[in-house]
Amino acid sequence: MKRIAITVENRRRLVIRHGRRQVVYAWCELCETDRRLLTIEHAALLSGLTHRQLFRHIENGLLHFSEALDAPRLCLDSLCKLMPQVKDLVSNFRSEASEQQRRLL
Ligand SMILES: [Zn+2]
Repeated sequence: MKRIAITVENRRRLVIRHGRRQVVYAWCELCETDRRLLTIEHAALLSGLTHRQLFRHIENGLLHFSEALDAPRLCLDSLCKLMPQVKDLVSNFRSEASEQQRRLL
């Protein structure tokens, strides 16, 4: 019997532009250290979750939330722990963004 192997390769590029105020570097009370904090809209875009789903995770204590800044924000680290695939999306801008955000604050 002849065996045929078919390999299908899919590639996808997701480009997310991180605007000046989408990501800020500020204190997360639950992490007890400075973290990158995202707007709810940005967190929804990165995670693919709806605002309602994000708030449900906040209520369940899975996502860290802060209202102390200019807008309600989520802790990026808590989002990466909940959804490891988000880490891949942000890994390439991670160190660069933190330096940039430090300068903005
Ligand atoms: Zn946190």
